Amino acid sequence: MMKDVKAALARYWGYESFLPLQKQAIDSVMQGRDSIVVLPTGGGKSLCFQAPAVLFPGLTIVVSPLIALMKDQVDALAECGIPAARIDSSLTTDERNDAWTRIRAKTLKLLYVAPERLVSENFLALMQQTELSFIAIDEAHCVSMWGHDFRPEYRQLGVLKDRFPKVPVAAYTATATAKVRADIGQQLHLNRPETIVGSFDRPNLVYRVHARTDRIRQTCQVLDRHKGESGIIYCIRRKDVEGLCAELNARGYKTAPYHAGMSAEGRKANQDAFITDKIDTIVATIAFGMGIDKPNVRYVVHTGMPKTLEHYQQESGRAGRDGLEAECCLFYSGGDFGVWKGLLRDMQPRAQQIAVEKLSEMYNYCTGGFCRHRTLLRYFGQDLEKADCAACDVCLGELDCMEDSLVIAQKILSCILRLGERYGGGYTALVLVGSRDQRIAENHHDALTTYGLLKDYPRHTVHDWIEQLVGQGCACKSGEYNVLTVTDRGRCVLKGLEKPRLLRPAQRPAREAKAVAD
Ligand code: ADP
Repeated sequence: MMKDVKAALARYWGYESFLPLQKQAIDSVMQGRDSIVVLPTGGGKSLCFQAPAVLFPGLTIVVSPLIALMKDQVDALAECGIPAARIDSSLTTDERNDAWTRIRAKTLKLLYVAPERLVSENFLALMQQTELSFIAIDEAHCVSMWGHDFRPEYRQLGVLKDRFPKVPVAAYTATATAKVRADIGQQLHLNRPETIVGSFDRPNLVYRVHARTDRIRQTCQVLDRHKGESGIIYCIRRKDVEGLCAELNARGYKTAPYHAGMSAEGRKANQDAFITDKIDTIVATIAFGMGIDKPNVRYVVHTGMPKTLEHYQQESGRAGRDGLEAECCLFYSGGDFGVWKGLLRDMQPRAQQIAVEKLSEMYNYCTGGFCRHRTLLRYFGQDLEKADCAACDVCLGELDCMEDSLVIAQKILSCILRLGERYGGGYTALVLVGSRDQRIAENHHDALTTYGLLKDYPRHTVHDWIEQLVGQGCACKSGEYNVLTVTDRGRCVLKGLEKPRLLRPAQRPAREAKAVAD
């Protein structure tokens, strides 16, 4: 057995030193302890289980949810001269037999397996005849319903610790709140696991959030700040990917699409063109990005709101992996909230409740108007040590907090009540700005005392404030048509007992994002 981790690091991977917390994570496994390791994307999690696998005398099993990820890792290990194999449904009988021969001959160091296969009785029995040194569970947030990508087959992995009590089991993930970490430990039956959590802050990322008013214009503004640089634009739906890509190319930008509806070859060609800088921008659904390690992504744009902050952290985190400044822009609308909520309709009640809570947290991030770095960190149970991150629209002074937020909020909430709590945000905004829309006249809403109360502001600004009030819990949207109602908190605002903050883009020049180096 090779004793020196550092020697293995140099010999197999050619690395001279560890990334933060890698050594601690490796030591924990080498001491035979169970562990839960949370390192951000790009934090170097693979090495945390691959290095012990090389050092241990027996076999290491790696549980992974996706065949593509397994294949990439096995190929990368082969290049480093480390014997690894995978067993999954895409193998031919010959390939599978070959893997088993190598397991029996004890020449294999790492075996990648999908969770459902690993827990089958046959497989467990065969493993009991093998010298098993270590079990690593990758993408471990899939274990928890509180995670963002729950997979029922991960739930059964608790059986591993029961069957192999002496073998250390370690769980790895990029995103886990304290609740998810506790759940991972419990579900996997880990024995007093050491929990190792890296910092989630990405100080080189500048976060900006805007209400979506004109998708193409807003997207082009970001692209124009990054001429000739690499970036990713995320859309919620495939058809948005196709549409936006065509519109951008027609305007002379070099982009290519990526979504799960394309052929495998088409996806690969576009991904390769992006990685090798043949195109600047990839326009994609969230199908794009897992396992992609491109260091010089300078911007990530979301043209719609993701459904959880875990997704947002992961997708925006693909920017600036080289540590240099990069920009993450999110364009949201109240409609996105409705779209996601509609998609959750068929879930089991408990899972649905969790998903709606996560969606609300995401929405609060958009509309809350607090430091974006701090909001993201708090969500993951950490705190920002400095008062001003100097790297988000809020701290850079790009948003104005309305001095008369309370009065504006009271006007909006009264209007919702006057409308009998039977209309959505768009219509309510029209009434408030005193629109001559035919529906308003037909409904005689131009006779309401709240008609035209906010006529000095553009409709989209008023609509955005309504969304901000929803995000701050003063109003609530429900039903198929997202009808607005006033919450208890909203009633406190009407009485002047609570003061919401309403923001709009600054009317004066913002200060520059500070240089990353200082
Ligand atoms: P994660 O799975 O946490 O997103 P990876 O394991 O894919 O991260 O590693 C991210 C990148 O960091 C990879 O390019 C990897 O080669 C590199 N890396 C990992 N460990 C080290 C190290 N100790 N020194 C230098 N580079 C490293």
